[in-house]
Amino acid sequence: MIANRARFRHAKKIERLAGYRVPDLAFHPAMLETITARFNYDALDFAIRQQLLNFFNDFLRCSCKNSPLCGCPEKKFAKKVIELRENGLDHRQISAALSDEYGIEIFPADVLSFLEDSVHVLEAISDVSRLQGRQDLSEKTDEHIRLIER
Ligand SMILES: [Zn+2]
Repeated sequence: MIANRARFRHAKKIERLAGYRVPDLAFHPAMLETITARFNYDALDFAIRQQLLNFFNDFLRCSCKNSPLCGCPEKKFAKKVIELRENGLDHRQISAALSDEYGIEIFPADVLSFLEDSVHVLEAISDVSRLQGRQDLSEKTDEHIRLIER
């Protein structure tokens, strides 16, 4: 999971504000619960607050009963990385964009291996859907592969 590689650059500040130990992994259950519970966003610097709000809005909004521990945040994050790639950013630019937008630190090498893994999964989906006569699905999948690999 690519989400498991994502760390908050300002995790220490979040921890200090929460008043208890929180791992710096952005999608760690303890971190997700901390920033969605009674958390005083106003006490953070403007830039950090903005990044956390972006994180909240883009990854933590879902109506699952057990949100944010429902798996949606991790899936949305993976989707975001793919989208950035399909919009033409390379793995270094994706790493930089995630840092600017969300204060997330993730190694470009981790982004790259995630994108490579994703292509392999998509290739498998494309093969299976072709075998099952799902031409529409295999064409869609091939288009994603083309956009990621270019
Ligand atoms: Zn959910």
